[in-house]
This record gives sequence, C-alpha cells and structure tokens, in this order.
Amino acid sequence: MLPKRTVIGSFPSRMAELGLDGAIKWAVDLQLKYGIQVVTDGEQRGNIIDYFEQVPGLGKRFGRPAIIGRIKPVEDLDDFPKISDCRRVLEYLRGLGAKDVEVKVTVTGPVTLGFTYGMGGLGPYSSVLDEKLYLDLAYALTPVIEKAVKMGCYIQVDEPGLAGRFLPPKIAGHILDEFFSNIKSGKEVTLHVCGSLSNVPNLYDTLLMLRVDVLSLAFSGKKEEKNLQLISREAFEEHGKKLGAGFISNIEIEPVEKALERLRIISSKIGIENVAYLHPDCGFRETPLDLVEKILTNMREASEIFLREIAE
Ligand SMILES: [Zn+2]
Repeated sequence: MLPKRTVIGSFPSRMAELGLDGAIKWAVDLQLKYGIQVVTDGEQRGNIIDYFEQVPGLGKRFGRPAIIGRIKPVEDLDDFPKISDCRRVLEYLRGLGAKDVEVKVTVTGPVTLGFTYGMGGLGPYSSVLDEKLYLDLAYALTPVIEKAVKMGCYIQVDEPGLAGRFLPPKIAGHILDEFFSNIKSGKEVTLHVCGSLSNVPNLYDTLLMLRVDVLSLAFSGKKEEKNLQLISREAFEEHGKKLGAGFISNIEIEPVEKALERLRIISSKIGIENVAYLHPDCGFRETPLDLVEKILTNMREASEIFLREIAE
C-alpha cells in the first residue's frame, strides 16, 4: 500500500465568519484542493483541549479548563462536537460524490487532556499524578472513538503532552496501554506525538510497545529533526508499527526539494512499505492561511515526485 496524504487536523478557524457548517465545508474543500486523501473536520470550533469540555467532569474554572467532578463517559454521543462535526464532513463528501476520500477523527489523548484539565482544578482527584484521573478519562473517551469507528472513520489520538513531559513515560505508557487496548477498529489507529522524542528518556520505546498501528511523528523542525536518528525499520517491523511521517514544516514554507530530501531519508530508514501517511509535522491552527496553502502545495508536489521515484 502506498502512503496516503493526510493532515494532522487543525486549520485556522473561519467559524466566526462562515458559521460552523460553512467553516467545516471550507476546511474540507481546502484539503480536497490540495490532494489530501484522509481529511479532517479542520477543528474549526477551538483548540484540542476545548473540544472535550462536554465530557462529564470536565469544564472551566476561573475561565480555564478544569476538572469539576468525577470524569464519566460521554452519553449523548450524537451531540458531542467530534461526532457531529464528523457527520457534517461525511455528509458533505457524500454530496460531492467524493467516494475515494476518507475521513479521520482526531481525539486528544488522555495524558494531554487529563493533565491540562487537571492543572486548572482537580475535582475529586488527588493530584495531576493520580492515575485514576487518566484512566477515568481514557474510559470516558472510549465511546466517542467507538462511535467514530462505527461511522467508518480513521482514528488519530493526539498526545503532544508526551514529548512535553506531562507525565513520566512509564506512567503515560500504562495509561495509554489501557486506553488503546479498548479501541477496536478495522482501520489503522494512529497516535500522533509531535515534538522531539529524544529529549524524553524511554519515550520512543514506550510508544513502540503500545497497541496502536501507526506512530505519527514530526521530523521537520530543528528539534524534531533529531527524531530521524531514533527510527529504524527493525524496531518498527518488530513491533508491527507503521509510520505517519511529518516530512514538511507546518509553520513555515519549506521548498519542495528540502521536503523531498527529508522524505527520502525517512523512507531509507524505515522502508517505504512501513510508511502509512505523509503529513506535515503538526496542525495548522496557528499558521496564517496563505502559508497553509503554500505548505500544502509543496507537500503535494514533494510527495508526488517521491511516489513517482519509488514507482520506477
Ligand atoms: Zn502535533
């Protein structure tokens, strides 16, 4: 299978201007325009933390995300933003007749989400190191993921907090192990961890052990470049992992040649058959729209040249 072009998820929000429906259609159109094969809703409502405020037990305190009670599973799945926005994307694509485009639902992982909410207030939990907090959250998120799987979507779990050392890798690993063991999907499940893994001892090994199909990593930034030294075909194959390759910057315009060269290096280290996705390092939430379009232009061109090269 050839790697598919995708994005990490977020785009600049145009919700204020276009309304939610219009903003999601706009984000989908933009992805289709640049040849993205697995599209997202563009995360038009807000950041990856605010999206989960409707999880029972999560809320706000003094205007900040905080735990306000025992964290419990989401009950009203149809109205949960991730699910209702996914439905909008699916309906829009169906209307367009875009049959070969697939949809990915992005879910912020329990470590990043639990730590961020816990910092604003702990509710019934004893500290931000209380494993119960994270396990409750992992359990609470599971129905959302099951629902998205039922709708035929790919799942990507975002855990930027892992490279940010929110929790020691051993504890984070245990929580994520529990979390992923409950996710059953016929399609690949991805864990996206941006930032440099080499700054956190044991993190890379912890990720390899998780029951997840694809590790989506960044290789393009100054710090992220060091991730190139970690990855190997042997380790990925031994642990049954595929790579989501962040081969182009998500914040600045890199020339096609530079991204292409990076992609060749990634492919030589891991084997092209072990690369599941080609994508930018991370999301586009903070990236000006004109830059986003130029980055997507160069990403498509570099990936097309690369795919032609390997076909020869
Ligand atoms: Zn990221």
